[in-house]
Amino acid sequence: MFNRTATRHQQTASIGDVNPLLKYPHRLNFYEEAPLEQVTLEQFETWAIDRLRVLAEIEAARIRGGNFEALKTVVSTQCEKHLQLHSNSEKEYNLDEERWKDRVSHFILRLAFCRTDELRGKFVRAETDLFRVRFAEAKQAERDAFLASKRFSGEPISDDEKAQLKRQLMDTTFSIRTEEDFAKENFYRVPWTKVTDLVAQRRVFLKRGHAYVPSTLQSSIIFQEFQARLANALELTARALPRLDEDDRLLPIITHFSQGFLAGVAGEHGRSVGQYGDAVTADMIDDLAWKHFPLCMRHVHGGLRQNRHLKHQGRLQYTLFLKVLGLPIDEAIHFWRASYGNTMSDDRFNKEYRYNIRHSYGLEGGRKNYPARDCRCIIMENPPAVTETHGCPFRHFSTSNLQSAINGYYGIPIMSEEMSDIIRAVEMRHYHVACTRVFELTHDGEGLGDGESVTHPNKYVARSRELEKEKEAKKEVATEGIGNTLKPDS
Ligand code: SF4
Repeated sequence: MFNRTATRHQQTASIGDVNPLLKYPHRLNFYEEAPLEQVTLEQFETWAIDRLRVLAEIEAARIRGGNFEALKTVVSTQCEKHLQLHSNSEKEYNLDEERWKDRVSHFILRLAFCRTDELRGKFVRAETDLFRVRFAEAKQAERDAFLASKRFSGEPISDDEKAQLKRQLMDTTFSIRTEEDFAKENFYRVPWTKVTDLVAQRRVFLKRGHAYVPSTLQSSIIFQEFQARLANALELTARALPRLDEDDRLLPIITHFSQGFLAGVAGEHGRSVGQYGDAVTADMIDDLAWKHFPLCMRHVHGGLRQNRHLKHQGRLQYTLFLKVLGLPIDEAIHFWRASYGNTMSDDRFNKEYRYNIRHSYGLEGGRKNYPARDCRCIIMENPPAVTETHGCPFRHFSTSNLQSAINGYYGIPIMSEEMSDIIRAVEMRHYHVACTRVFELTHDGEGLGDGESVTHPNKYVARSRELEKEKEAKKEVATEGIGNTLKPDS
């Protein structure tokens, strides 16, 4: 897919916002030509994950059911962080580099999402939403230049035809109220199948299989075209994909991406001790669990307290989580030893458990700094057996057990509208959305910030602790204020 031969963009546009010095003169893209430049394996992975983060949040925003303005906020926040793409007028940025990353990451994810109908559908939806937002935010000159480069404006109708169809065109075009509006408007003839949403809403005049689209509604044609081309390209990629199955470097990475997107999260990499917050001590864990842990970790913690023991996968999930929470190794050993209590001797603990805890901290064996498991991994891998406590309760519990757990740990009533919302998201397999909803309900409506959804248990805790600190700071300011007003006049 990638070699050293650089693509030369055939610049066809001569109008609007085009910088001929750029290799990629347009910010908007239909992604018709696969990039031919070489990328490193690291770029391959990190760029795709960056795009996946944006797409996962778009998908989550769609499920939450916000309007287009809410979607725009999510896209611009996420793109600012992970996938910047500035317009030609913003000369202080390296536009070619941004556009290269945008293209490459799109094509990598095509490889990951072409395999099943479900993945293709999700990918097309999220990419089309991303394109819609970028199109809406582009300046008119930028759009014109892009559309002209694609020779994509539909077939303009002649003045004679416009005059002949005047009554029908005025009747069907809501934006035209007066003769003057009509005189100013241009119409384009396109096959009706390209604008099915406009046809369904009766917003265009139809004649002999063609729709007459006013320029003000042209974007609808473009989005449908984007969608259709991408769906078609994914089918073609799927047919070519078996050849890729032989590449044992790329295949695991690609599979990881698609699993993450199915779980609704992009996957997190390489977080280490305390990266999500300040250091904590063993004595703080009970309190933190009660106030700040997501359901998966509350359940594991509850299991440990109840049984004074956890099975292997639960221990691993929880040890790595606590490590990234900021529990230093000596505190971790103290925590685990105290948790097992008199169910095991010191000797057995030292022989069988101490080594594994140190191993998780990268202090034994291959000395790897293992990251904590993110939601993608917890949701998709190693499903728990009946007697095990690891996993994601939103994914692995029955509905009634899940309701009881949410009610027991967070006090959300089983027969409430809020609980129905959560269960609805779970039934649609949007586990992270359900988890985000629990977070919002237990944090006075505050979310993870920037419209994001839960992608990592440690991120959940970090945000929860941050909100608590903010609340305490506000309380202190208020108390000081009262103190000052009560001071007697000197
Ligand atoms: Fe834990 Fe993530 Fe599941 Fe929430 S969505 S319970 S944080 S695994």
